[in-house]
Amino acid sequence: MKKLMTCILLLLLSTAAFKSSGNPELLSAPQAQTDSLKTDARDPVCGMKVKKGTTLTHNHNKVVYGFCSAGCKKTFVSNPDKYLKK
Ligand SMILES: [Zn+2]
Repeated sequence: MKKLMTCILLLLLSTAAFKSSGNPELLSAPQAQTDSLKTDARDPVCGMKVKKGTTLTHNHNKVVYGFCSAGCKKTFVSNPDKYLKK
């Protein structure tokens, strides 16, 4: 019985190790285009609240902006300065 438990534990550990090291691109690749929003924010185009975790984002000058819709994102990306300067 104890030996079985050890086997299962080893199996779990090796699975976890594989998961954490086996897929490096999963951790670094999406940075450029699909940053998810870290905190609740406001859509700079229409002013609507945007919940954290959304991937409708755009990284502008190292700041991640979130949007309520693909349309707002597109509007912002085509002319970000218009919506950032007041
Ligand atoms: Zn919007």
